[in-house]
Amino acid sequence: MMDMAFEAILGQERLIENLKKALNRQQISHAYLLEGEKGLGKRKVAYEIAKGICCRGEEKRPCNECTSCKKLQHGNHPEVKWLQEETSIKIESIRQIQKNLQMKPYEGSKKVYIICDAEKMTIQAQNALLKTLEEPPEYATILLLTTNAVGLLPTITSRCQRLKLLPVSMEKIQNYLVGEKGITLEEAKVMAAFSNGAIGKALQLMEDEAFKNRRKETIRMTRDIMDKNTIQLLETMNFFNQEKDNIEEILEIMMGWYRDLLIYKDTKKKEYTINIDEIQEIFYQADKLILKNIKEMILIIERTKNNFRSNVNFQLNLEVMLLDLKQKAKI
Ligand SMILES: [Zn+2]
Repeated sequence: MMDMAFEAILGQERLIENLKKALNRQQISHAYLLEGEKGLGKRKVAYEIAKGICCRGEEKRPCNECTSCKKLQHGNHPEVKWLQEETSIKIESIRQIQKNLQMKPYEGSKKVYIICDAEKMTIQAQNALLKTLEEPPEYATILLLTTNAVGLLPTITSRCQRLKLLPVSMEKIQNYLVGEKGITLEEAKVMAAFSNGAIGKALQLMEDEAFKNRRKETIRMTRDIMDKNTIQLLETMNFFNQEKDNIEEILEIMMGWYRDLLIYKDTKKKEYTINIDEIQEIFYQADKLILKNIKEMILIIERTKNNFRSNVNFQLNLEVMLLDLKQKAKI
């Protein structure tokens, strides 16, 4: 029978395997730092660690059978607490945890605190937490979850056992989406490509009709850049203005698109393209554009992206981009 003690978390199998071994040997650290991009499953891993720590099973931890495991599954375990703040994590929240920690666990023998987005802790909050990390009560474990460990004091990170969640390969995500979610390989390939190796992001995109429409519109626009005259093309600004909040994503989609054209033009192999569901359009555009110009178009989009970081005018930046792209798309 399959070992279900630790539910598989896609792509994090090795990390889970090592944790499982440690838990079964009762080697529990007082503090863990879980690092990784959004959508890789940090919360899921944290949940499994908490379950394993609190489990009362004799052999495999977590057993998923004991009262502790059951309570966690139902989200009402009194000794496992999550701290999540919208904005910054202030010293008061850490003090609350410390106060709580002084009371011995009355259920089971462990207490687990999970601090989400730990980089949001203010310096004061981090310094307060440091005291707990230096002298933790026997029964306590603190899990810090972060996308950016650089935002934490070195004195904090050095006291934690660091666990890195790595991005998952595109192939693995594709296979998962096809196998578990029943979508077509074409669609799975697109979602995997835009997920940056995060299964959570891929799953979210799959349900995101707005994203799908945005992508279609963006690809249509690349055709307009070839076919329309300058005045018509500038009407595209309506689309940009409507999608102002998503401009970064749109530019990413454009980069991916011209990357596909470049690769197809160079290799004549469609299996390397991301936008495989638009392969006819890739054939068409790759055939009409010059290789050297496609490279320059990618640089134009890159430059536009960078310009936004230095607060240039939204309208102007994009108009210049469209006109520059049009220059390179002249057939
Ligand atoms: Zn258990």
